[in-house]
Amino acid sequence: MKNAIITGGTSGIGLGIARLFAAQGYNLLVNGLEQNGQQIADELAQEHEVRVIFSSANMQHSEQIREMVQQAEQELGHVDVLINNAGIQHVAPVDEFPEDRWDAIIAINMSATFHASKAVWPGMKARGFGRIINIASAHALRASEYKVAYVAAKHGVAGITKVLALEGAPHGITCNAICPGYVRTPLVEAQIADQARAHQMSETEVIAKVMLKKQPIKQFVEVQALGNMALYLASETAGQLTGAMLPVDGGWSAQ
Ligand code: NAD
Repeated sequence: MKNAIITGGTSGIGLGIARLFAAQGYNLLVNGLEQNGQQIADELAQEHEVRVIFSSANMQHSEQIREMVQQAEQELGHVDVLINNAGIQHVAPVDEFPEDRWDAIIAINMSATFHASKAVWPGMKARGFGRIINIASAHALRASEYKVAYVAAKHGVAGITKVLALEGAPHGITCNAICPGYVRTPLVEAQIADQARAHQMSETEVIAKVMLKKQPIKQFVEVQALGNMALYLASETAGQLTGAMLPVDGGWSAQ
């Protein structure tokens, strides 16, 4: 029986990944700020007959991240897989970009990846097996205007991914990043309105002309596709795949 931590596992992409992992028999710690997080964890556990614990640790605070990992190790026994997925977004021109949004995006989208990976590292190293999967973004590989903090944080995640791959190699620990294009989750729903304001367009125009403009396959990426990629990366057979930035972006980064 394998155990996984999924940060931001109570909404959107993280919840979709949690469903697929639970269906494959993984015990989980799901983390997130959703008020009904405990209920989501209980429902996953009941539906898939696995253990699912909930943590409301705030990824902005390193001590809460360490406590979350400790909770998983104590209650599940050990951690095989860490999925760094929690993230937020803010869209604004650079001269209007609020400093507190810069700090929060760097902390949640990038620094939490370091703190959580550091916390699971000793256990993974001692057991000679670990899988760290970072949910980065096409914005880890390409830039877009009005997203200075997000693009910086996700490029930072690319750097963390490659360093952990190198340091994990002698210990059976792999680290990879999945780089999705646009996925229609609550995070993107909120952006549609923000982008409409920033670009002075209607919401329908933003979807067609800004978001899917960059994806040659003119469809939002499905959560299922990301979950299946994560399941493969977590498997024993993916042991030689490490340090990779893997786009699932409808062809965006081919340009
Ligand atoms: P979402 O808003 O649906 O979910 C985000 C999750 O992160 C939620 O569970 C939320 O509670 C959690 N979270 C946010 N701040 C937190 C904090 N301080 N502490 C703990 N948890 C926190 O968003 P999503 O679209 O599912 O995004 C998940 C990840 O995928 C993010 O890292 C995002 O950058 C990335 N991503 C999303 C898209 C997309 O189009 N949706 C594309 C590329 C990458």
